[in-house]
Amino acid sequence: MKYIVVTGGVVSGLGKGVTISSMGRLLQACGLRVTAIKIDPYLNVDAGTMSPFEHGEVFVLNDGGETDLDLGNYERFLSLELTQDHNITTGKVYRHVILQERRGDYLGKTVQVVPHITNEIQDWIERTAKIPTSEDGEEADVCLIEVGGTVGDIESSVFLEALRQFQFRVGPENFILCFVSLVPILSDEQKTKPTQHGVKDLRSLGLSPSVIFCRCTEELLGPTRQKISDFCHVPAEHVLSVHDVKNVYQVPILLQQQNLHLILEKHLQISKMTKPDLGAWALMANAMAQWSETVQICLIGKYTGLQDSYLSVIKALRHAAIACQHKLDLQWVEATDLENDVEEAWDKVRNCQGIIVPGGFGNRGFDGKVLAAKYCRENNKPYLGVCLGFQAVVVEYCRNVLNMTGANSTEFDEKSDYPVVFFMPEIDKTTMGGNMRLGSRVTKFTHAQFDDGSTSVLKRLYKNKESIHERHRHRYEVNPEYVDQIHEGGLKLVGRDETGERMEVAELPGHPYYVGVQYHPEFKSRPLNPSPPFHGLVLAAIGKLDAYLEEETMLLGN
Ligand code: GLN
Repeated sequence: MKYIVVTGGVVSGLGKGVTISSMGRLLQACGLRVTAIKIDPYLNVDAGTMSPFEHGEVFVLNDGGETDLDLGNYERFLSLELTQDHNITTGKVYRHVILQERRGDYLGKTVQVVPHITNEIQDWIERTAKIPTSEDGEEADVCLIEVGGTVGDIESSVFLEALRQFQFRVGPENFILCFVSLVPILSDEQKTKPTQHGVKDLRSLGLSPSVIFCRCTEELLGPTRQKISDFCHVPAEHVLSVHDVKNVYQVPILLQQQNLHLILEKHLQISKMTKPDLGAWALMANAMAQWSETVQICLIGKYTGLQDSYLSVIKALRHAAIACQHKLDLQWVEATDLENDVEEAWDKVRNCQGIIVPGGFGNRGFDGKVLAAKYCRENNKPYLGVCLGFQAVVVEYCRNVLNMTGANSTEFDEKSDYPVVFFMPEIDKTTMGGNMRLGSRVTKFTHAQFDDGSTSVLKRLYKNKESIHERHRHRYEVNPEYVDQIHEGGLKLVGRDETGERMEVAELPGHPYYVGVQYHPEFKSRPLNPSPPFHGLVLAAIGKLDAYLEEETMLLGN
């Protein structure tokens, strides 16, 4: 196994994740299998208990792991399926070591950060790197490791010490360290000092980077490259310019142009590398820059102040727009503004081509989401509701069509006369963290055939499969007591779990596109393979859904 470790310096939010994913994508284009590990030096065991306001979205894996959003970047860019072990946190490592200590596994020894924690980190990395994560189920050739935070933080120092030891454990030909830095431009001059200091900090910890990625707004100039090379102890060709490009999909091409693959091949003594071929990826990245038509989608949420809170939803919309060869024009609306009749917010809802209401927790803004669902239902506006957005569809329909005044989710009104969405019986109310209905679960399209002979649009978008697997993260669900009434009342509950008791998909026949899903389809969307519910929303928004479905039916029929 070859290990590529990437650390960052100067400031956070440099796009380390995109840089690493792009490096992985390039290696894949050279015929290698790649896997990825993210190290987060915080004490939380996982990201599940962290507010999206503070830390961006919580990404959900197939195995139910609630992780940092960078794992989503890896899965999307590299078509991987990662596990919770691929997100190493200080909390997880210490918990593991302390449990072993309590069991008496250390046989009377004093348990210390060095060597016990540092050994555990190294064992964890070696163990996890071997887990097959690519589509063909084979072990990877190369493991990318991203160290979160910035060099010099107290928090990350134990991980950097572990990695310092690790380079000797695995040998220099199996280990390369890369550093992502910032080259700001001040008074028209590209400044190298922050990079010099970052590298100096790393070297004082016994780690010396072999490749330096320089994030900058404009391409790195020759003299800047030379200066960084002189001061940071790397050849000038190993100083790479990662300047702003038209879209993130172009970054692998940018790295290829600077021969990153050859640098890695030589340093890591990789024998089986082929000439890079980015194929369909490169075509997409270059074509996108030319598209002129846009599709305007309005996202109604509550964490709209920090767009990272909805990262996967935005990516899924983008992937769907790519499939339709449109640029995405995303408009943001605070759900509470709809409750308060803010004209500007309502204008956005009225004027856009489609609405997405993503997942969320807590009371604030829920009624605004219900109002948006009502508007879309009554005005034939394409609508996709995810998780809480699905629950809003159910509540809205019960309140306004089935005349259940005050219908609600018990998350927001425990005393509602019509608790049409309620707390799932098996969920534990006393603890937080890892205790929702999480991860990949089956949905069966058992109620997808309608009286008029037509078939559910969503089922058709999923290529007429009888069952699908999507990821979940919720505590509330449609109350089984109301299911028949809702379904017979016209809001078709077309997809259900394997017991038939848990509702997964709602759809309104006769509407251009009115769909709610209890699961989170955004987590499995890929740039070249959009998530079906999102694809449907964008197709409906540009008026191409029927044509697409007809074509698909013909293809499937043949
Ligand atoms: N708060 C809702 C629930 O727990 C929705 C969760 C979500 O949207 N992820 O069921």
